[in-house]
Amino acid sequence: MARFRSLRWRLTFLYLGLLSVLLLAGSVAQYFAAREVLFRTNAEALSSEYAADLLAFRRQIGTTARPAAALRALMLSAQFAKELASGHTSAAIFDANGGLVTSANAGISPDQPPPTLYTTDYLNAIRSKPKAYYLAAASDGSTHLAVLNVVRVGSKPVGVVQLSIPTAVIDQTLQADRQLAIVGSLIVLLVAVLLSPLIIGRALRPLEQMSSTAGALAAGDYKQRVSVPRSQDEIGKLAVAFNQMAAGIDQAFEVRRQSEEQMRHFVADASHELRTPLTSIAGYIDVLRRREVVDPETLQASLAAMQQESARMTRLVNDLLTLTRFESGRAPSRQPVVLDQFVGQALDELSLRDKGALESRDLQPGVTVRADPEALKQVVTNLAQNALKYAPGAQQHWSVFQADGRAAIRLQDTGPGISRQDLPHIFERFYRGEKARDRSTGGSGLGLAIAKSIVEAHQGTIEASSEPGQGATFTAWLPLAA
Ligand code: ADP
Repeated sequence: MARFRSLRWRLTFLYLGLLSVLLLAGSVAQYFAAREVLFRTNAEALSSEYAADLLAFRRQIGTTARPAAALRALMLSAQFAKELASGHTSAAIFDANGGLVTSANAGISPDQPPPTLYTTDYLNAIRSKPKAYYLAAASDGSTHLAVLNVVRVGSKPVGVVQLSIPTAVIDQTLQADRQLAIVGSLIVLLVAVLLSPLIIGRALRPLEQMSSTAGALAAGDYKQRVSVPRSQDEIGKLAVAFNQMAAGIDQAFEVRRQSEEQMRHFVADASHELRTPLTSIAGYIDVLRRREVVDPETLQASLAAMQQESARMTRLVNDLLTLTRFESGRAPSRQPVVLDQFVGQALDELSLRDKGALESRDLQPGVTVRADPEALKQVVTNLAQNALKYAPGAQQHWSVFQADGRAAIRLQDTGPGISRQDLPHIFERFYRGEKARDRSTGGSGLGLAIAKSIVEAHQGTIEASSEPGQGATFTAWLPLAA
């Protein structure tokens, strides 16, 4: 039973129901229209029959002039009624007051009284024009089609002649018509019953496919799609929209998968970086505990090493906090910063010359950006410290300038540069260049990632270029203050 509750069957039943009602209504309308046409043609035939009979009767009674009263009597006589009746046609003659004068029943039962209408019908026919036809009931309950003709002597109406035939004669013709309509309708219905489930089922097949595909999507198979029917109807559009939705879901899950993957990497890398100093501290503690007597020098050396490791851990944790703060997407609190003054001051504070760098400056005055000074200082510091680490003793040329409607802070060093393999990755979190990896003094690989996250939080970009052996150039581009 549940099967018949499906859309396919509901549409089929609806369609068949509608078709049956339409066929029935069409047949009924057609039957009544045909009946009306038959009534009218039979009525016309009766009228012509009357006209012919009247002419014949006039000829029969002769052309000699007669007084009006005699003529009237002849026109209302049983002789005239007999002349008019023939075959199925019965005749009845009424006087000018609508009273029956005489009748002739040539039809099936000659003794039966003729079918009559209401007296008013006869009076109305005399007063105005008779209607095209009337339906009269006979005493046996049968219906008769009747036409009325007013009889005049001179111009004076003297009575009404009624010619009638039983409608049963007409109904016989209609019966065949009715049977044909019923058989035709049944054939049409049968064909519809056989074909409509197939046609509707075919039209709805994409919907069934969509439902099974939706099931597959829900089960996690995001690559499933439905085949789009060629017709661009509602179902075709639905299939297109369905596939777009499936692609959207697939994409969203792909993005989630990627970000989860990145997060896993990040956590693994961070844990790995933290484990090194922790293992080291645990090692020193272990050594100290195992010794019964610790000489003050060893103790001092161990404590200093542990302090160094803990400082490294603190730096790492601070770097991680900075990174998450700027990557969270929260806008930094900004204020106008005049770059030449700002970078000049930051470089003074870093006193790079004291740390062995050959520092030079070319700071274009008045280039202003809107930035968080604390964060911007970190960018300058990270770049400077990298140059100190990876290009020790080399020249560091700092410049501030304005180009293409943007502000730039640039550092060019004359160090060893960055290898081609490293260059595309140096801004990644925890990425350390080949040389930096085996170097104990190397950082954690977060310095440039932090600089990038800060610059991007200010709607800027940061880039690096380098020819190995020719030094490296880092440029931070920032939007100018309006
Ligand atoms: P780290 O904390 O290791 O310094 P960074 O993210 O600051 O990490 O830098 C990533 C890598 O980029 C470094 O390991 C190094 O190989 C390379 N690098 C950065 N700055 C320079 C530079 N001025 N010259 C050469 N290599 C550099």
